[in-house]
Amino acid sequence: MRMSDLIIKKRNGQKLNQKEIEYFIREYVAGEIPDYQAAAMMMAVYFRGMDAEETAALTLAMARSGDTVDLSAIPGTKVDKHSTGGVADTTTLVVAPLVAACGVPVAKMSGRGLGHTGGTLDKLESIPGFSVYQPMDDFIDLVRQNGLAVIGQTADLVPADRMLYALRDVTGTVENLSLIASSIMSKKIAAGADAILLDVKTGDGAFMGTEEDAFSLAQAMVEIGTQVGRDTVALITDMNEPLGEAVGNALEVQEAVEILKGERTGRLLDVCMALGEQMLVLGGVCGTAREGKEKLAEALSSGRGLEKFTAMVQDQGGDPRVVEDTGLLPQAKGQAEVAAERDGYISDIHTRQIGEAASHLGAGRVKKEDPIDPAVGLWMHVRTGDTVKKGQSLATVHYNEEGKMREAMGMIKDAIDIGDAPPVERALVYGRVSKEGVERY
Ligand code: URA
Ligand code: CA
Repeated sequence: MRMSDLIIKKRNGQKLNQKEIEYFIREYVAGEIPDYQAAAMMMAVYFRGMDAEETAALTLAMARSGDTVDLSAIPGTKVDKHSTGGVADTTTLVVAPLVAACGVPVAKMSGRGLGHTGGTLDKLESIPGFSVYQPMDDFIDLVRQNGLAVIGQTADLVPADRMLYALRDVTGTVENLSLIASSIMSKKIAAGADAILLDVKTGDGAFMGTEEDAFSLAQAMVEIGTQVGRDTVALITDMNEPLGEAVGNALEVQEAVEILKGERTGRLLDVCMALGEQMLVLGGVCGTAREGKEKLAEALSSGRGLEKFTAMVQDQGGDPRVVEDTGLLPQAKGQAEVAAERDGYISDIHTRQIGEAASHLGAGRVKKEDPIDPAVGLWMHVRTGDTVKKGQSLATVHYNEEGKMREAMGMIKDAIDIGDAPPVERALVYGRVSKEGVERY
């Protein structure tokens, strides 16, 4: 087999067979196929697409390209959760402890933030002492004991995705449905959970801008999961404005803790409940989503979700006192208010730009190696549809460098549109995709 023939085949719009896809992944990971040929293949796939069979073959070849995790030592149905990424998307820190408190073990491997999106590992590392690197045996023991652990992906999990993602990132080939679906699902399959809940974001803060694209991506991923015997469900949720109120690592931990304490409600909690219900059904502890909602509400009001979170922090070397006193989290030197320039309605929030402003303050990274500042970010004080008065604070910026603060303030001001009429109301959850089909809410 020759890679150049496979590139031409795909370039001409023909279908690659399983053997050809396996050859490409195996030889690329082994260093036998150079980046320029892999990049040409990614571009051919970008323009020509892959059908369901090719996408499944690519996913499996990638999933098997390195280590796979065996969670069979943990009793019960292990349910993983994955968000396609967004801004103020702190769902894992809230939903994982609540679900664990309801008896479904969560053994989660999370990622870091890139570009305008945040990452769970960066958020957890803002807790003094918290370690996201645990040996595999310890990780499994922690889940056996507490029902919950969140760690970073081990270096050898899906090396094919690490290599291909880095290549796609710099060759204009990220936004292809088959490539995104295989990238995400290969990691989920290798990470070993029995069931997978996908939170597919749609809106101007998501990879998949339109609702239709988000449904298509959800369908592609559910199909792959089902084919490989993992019970997979996807919810399509809104990312047309930041999900929570805090954007930035320590600030998002603070928000999650306040939600788990019952001190805060809103869209972030609502999405967490919707995701959690599905996870409880997938985990087999509830027959219906409605039953799941009741269980989650009880785990929240009784404080058992907060206890799980605190135990996880302690187990993974973090200072559990941050739960009692979030003031012990890293604090920025200064705060500044972004004020409304006129009276009116919040007509739109440009989500990606809010994420970019937080990143600019130091909360995120442009390149994978960039250091981040855990303390900086912002609190949003308005939602789409709110009325505001001139001079009212729209957001509070937490900063460590004045120059960056001034630029970020401008970006945030530009990202929040104030108009004369209220915008059309939007749903928070657009629908659900499972092996039974597509439901639109
Ligand atoms: N997230 C991933 O893990 N992979 C993609 O291709 C896009 C988003
Ligand atoms: Ca928007």
